[in-house]
Amino acid sequence: MLNNVRIVLVNTTHPGNIGGVARAMKNMGLSELCLVAPKKFPHEDALARAAGAGDLLDGALVVDSLDDALADCHLVVGTSARSRSIPWPLVNPRELAAIVAPLPVETKVAILFGREDRGLTNDELQRCHHHVHIPVNEEFSSLNLAAAVQVITYELRMAELLQAEPGAKPQWGTEWDVELADGRELELMFDHLEQVLTEVEFLDPQKPRNLMPRLRRLLLRAVPDKIEVNVLRGMLSAMSKSAKKDS
Ligand code: SAH
Repeated sequence: MLNNVRIVLVNTTHPGNIGGVARAMKNMGLSELCLVAPKKFPHEDALARAAGAGDLLDGALVVDSLDDALADCHLVVGTSARSRSIPWPLVNPRELAAIVAPLPVETKVAILFGREDRGLTNDELQRCHHHVHIPVNEEFSSLNLAAAVQVITYELRMAELLQAEPGAKPQWGTEWDVELADGRELELMFDHLEQVLTEVEFLDPQKPRNLMPRLRRLLLRAVPDKIEVNVLRGMLSAMSKSAKKDS
């Protein structure tokens, strides 16, 4: 399971933090680090803070956009240091680990970590199936990026050790028969949904309100598989075709 977890750092400012994250990950047995548009990387400060985890920095995937970081991921989790405008399924690190450990073996999971000064944007958080918050001291709540990665990856490691015990149940209580939809397929589905809802005048692009975020939250909660996404898209195509016939 730990091999299928990708730690994604979004727009990190301080290269030292990237090194600290690499070290925290390697200590917990994770190896896949992805950097979305880091401010300074590669950098000597990153290497210095990584101590013996320079191999993770060498192997880091550096991309320009979050789309590239998430295209092949089936489950996306966003870290959040504070609550946001519309509520989202929110768990603590231990609960997150209990969700991730029993996932089907081929499931690729991404955990997103935000900018040191302002975290993740609302759009970035709305890409996520779950949000995870570390319950810190409210009077001193600012947690260093690498410390946040350490806490979350420690819980994943503990859950993996437990999951290895006999009798552990897979997610949904049964082995799934179809691969989960990945990030690219989900985004194509949401684009399609937005387009058809606009066509049938259910969504007003001038006044979108929170319709798309709410629909994203609803559909992501279901963690649809590839066939389910195809069925939904087939329904959208049929609706669009029928609406064009009638007009
Ligand atoms: N001032 C920022 C905090 C950013 S801290 C804000 O208000 O959002 C940088 C990153 O560390 C966050 O984006 C998140 O990835 C992680 N982090 C910090 N504190 C956290 C917490 N309590 N729970 C989960 N992640 C946290």
